[in-house]
Amino acid sequence: MTPEQAQNEIAELTQKINYYNEKYYQEHISEISDYEFDMLLNKLIDLEKQFPQFTQPDSPTQRVGGGITKEFLTVTHKRPMLSLSNTYNEQDLRDFDERIKKTLGDAPYEYICELKFDGVAMSLHYENYLLTTAVTRGDGEQGDDVTTNIKTIKTVPLKVHSQKLPPNFEVRGEVVMPHESFDRINDEIAKENEQREKEGKKPLAFLANPRNATSGTIKMQDSSVVAKRNLMFYGYDFLADNQAFITHEESLKALKEAKFNISTDYVKCKNIDEVIDFVNRWETKRYDLPMDTDGIVVKINDYSQRETLGFTAKSPRWAIAYKYKAEVASTILESVVYQVGRTGAVTPVANLKPVKLAGTTVKRATLHNANEIARLDLHQGDTVFVQKAGEIIPQITGVDMSKRPQGVAPIHFIENCPECNTQLIRKEGEVAFICPNEKGCPPQIKGKMEHFISRKAMNIDSLGEKTIETFFQAGMIKTVADLYKIKKEDILTLEGFKETSANNILAGIETSKQKPFKNVLFGLGIRFIGETVAEKLANFFKSIENLQKASLEELTTAPEIGEKIAQSLIEYFKDEDNLRLIEELKKAGLQFTMQEEDKPQLSNKLEGKTFLVSGVFANFERDEIKNVIEAHGGRVLSGVSGKLNYLIAGENAGGSKLEKAEKLGVQVISESQFLEMIK
Ligand SMILES: [Zn+2]
Repeated sequence: MTPEQAQNEIAELTQKINYYNEKYYQEHISEISDYEFDMLLNKLIDLEKQFPQFTQPDSPTQRVGGGITKEFLTVTHKRPMLSLSNTYNEQDLRDFDERIKKTLGDAPYEYICELKFDGVAMSLHYENYLLTTAVTRGDGEQGDDVTTNIKTIKTVPLKVHSQKLPPNFEVRGEVVMPHESFDRINDEIAKENEQREKEGKKPLAFLANPRNATSGTIKMQDSSVVAKRNLMFYGYDFLADNQAFITHEESLKALKEAKFNISTDYVKCKNIDEVIDFVNRWETKRYDLPMDTDGIVVKINDYSQRETLGFTAKSPRWAIAYKYKAEVASTILESVVYQVGRTGAVTPVANLKPVKLAGTTVKRATLHNANEIARLDLHQGDTVFVQKAGEIIPQITGVDMSKRPQGVAPIHFIENCPECNTQLIRKEGEVAFICPNEKGCPPQIKGKMEHFISRKAMNIDSLGEKTIETFFQAGMIKTVADLYKIKKEDILTLEGFKETSANNILAGIETSKQKPFKNVLFGLGIRFIGETVAEKLANFFKSIENLQKASLEELTTAPEIGEKIAQSLIEYFKDEDNLRLIEELKKAGLQFTMQEEDKPQLSNKLEGKTFLVSGVFANFERDEIKNVIEAHGGRVLSGVSGKLNYLIAGENAGGSKLEKAEKLGVQVISESQFLEMIK
């Protein structure tokens, strides 16, 4: 094929496929079979590969995705993307109308009411009728450039044919995930998880709700995955340097003609009563829509009137969003069950008579803690109100007292652990009841192991929750140290484990021995020692021995280590069983000392010296200067004490710190003196 022939053929195929796409996605008409369509598309993909120079800017191959975005560039919006002020009741709408009337005087005005889709706001820019950039709202001033991913959305025109629209313009709208796609993806995850369970891998998390799923999807790196998720775009605003239309309604019609996806469920209202009618009409009707909506947007129709009304600092004065309250259902409380978590905290969960709520069936609701049960004054057999507001787990918001059966007993929080029957305790100042039987309560033991193997700790992903459960039931593991004693023969005696999976599990356990000290420290699951604290402790104390030896006072000199954490460490190391566990893990070969390569080391010029930083610096961010100190072998303390050698004082350094330093004879140095020290 000559280049000229290729060029013609590419142009022809592009036009043809775009035509079929448009017919299908705008008018739901298939003029050719899927097979024929795929043949045309594959032919175009092949030709574009051979002659990339002839690829058309509106090529339908972009819909299939494949482009990878490593990092989403931050883009400043040409016009700020303001958010609308929200209202939840009729009176607010009437007040809004009063304010409009006051400003516009006697002039007649109209409202356009639109459904408020619950997704991710998006700004599309067209230059010479071609889609050039798609930007998320971000903070309203700046957003992320997600063009490659947005191009895969079939309801976003890549090239526009219109006599009414100017060549350069912006369209704003909402990207949403239809319920069908949302359910399908979660079904796929469920299937995938069955497979992963068999392989002893950790399950993938389900998508929480369509809105979160949408925002997660448009920030994915691989656009071919985005393409498969069937997102939709609904346009609702037209903007250009010179407004081409007199009213908003005209712009919507022109966009619709130009093949933008514009919801037809909008109305024009002559007054606020008509607006309120529309709002009420959609309150329940919206649940029949194939995607989530969370309210109605009310906008002034006339652009010149919008200009008269103007903006507040945060939002336009000519529009308002009416938000529907979360749907509430009432149902019968069948029982309250109690779950014991890794830390021993006991959470009450309500089992409910199944009830339909916002399109799904609800059977359970969280009750949070004992205070919540008391606050609700829950009784056996109560009829309760359940609500779902964006979260996955529904909440009980109240009790229908009129339906309480006579003579029923109030529900009291259990006194003993449902798993090991130990009496529960409540620590001062905390709301949760906990089971103190840390070492004998099965869910706590298993929970500790799951924490130990988790990604941010030892990252043994060849082991999963199910495998831990199986090993535990078989009596193979009582503590995490037992993991390192498991032999292949032991695993092979268990039902469902084959040579390959046994090898994988053992390899994962073996590799974990190389995990740095900070991961091990985090993995031990000491109370209040999260990932960041573990890293700080590892950097400061360098080894478990130093940490063990440290007094309460010494512990609190470490950066950002407070009394609560220090106390928890002291308690942990007081316990014989914990010390035995550490010894066993050491013997197994785990890292209990910080390796030099864990942290970049520039020099040892500051070796043995301690520093405190205060104020603002010209050459460093505050955390940066701390890293520099450590990189040169120095240590950073958290307060002025007798152990402190230098206080580096930047601009606006704390007065009380300087005073105390002077009293204790600590040397106060400037930023430039510090720079001299490491030169
Ligand atoms: Zn227990």
